[in-house]
Amino acid sequence: MRVGLGYDSHRFADGRRLVLGGVDIPHERGLAGHSDADAVAHALTDAVLGAAGLGDIGRHFPPADERYRDADSIGLLERAAHLAAEHNYQVINADVTVVCETPKIGAHAAAMCERLAHALGIAPSFVSVKGKTNEGMGWIGAGEGVAAMAVVLVDRVEG
Ligand code: MG
Repeated sequence: MRVGLGYDSHRFADGRRLVLGGVDIPHERGLAGHSDADAVAHALTDAVLGAAGLGDIGRHFPPADERYRDADSIGLLERAAHLAAEHNYQVINADVTVVCETPKIGAHAAAMCERLAHALGIAPSFVSVKGKTNEGMGWIGAGEGVAAMAVVLVDRVEG
């Protein structure tokens, strides 16, 4: 078995959708980014790739590549899981922490687990999403953006 760790952050921006964990969340501001800026999906994608020893999201889905403009990041996560499977690694479970002052993550956590689990090809009960605030400290506390951290466990399967 191997573990992978992922981290991502995106800045809030006016006139953008807020997509976290593949879920559209009603909020006065969305997140800036080349893709849909889904920091949760990006952190989890990096964790999957890291666990499988396959580098990082920027290597597989470069932000300069026009194919990934406004990309659905759940699709990138799904591709990362397939890539891991091609290298004989099956995702066992994932745990995610989202850090932001707003929105409140708890109300959307179950829907995020569903979307993320579907992309990973595992049951929703094997995905966990938790929300934290930063207690008003620093850039997160000032409401400048959202950070997400993820860990993934993979198991080696016979190829
Ligand atoms: Mg990102």
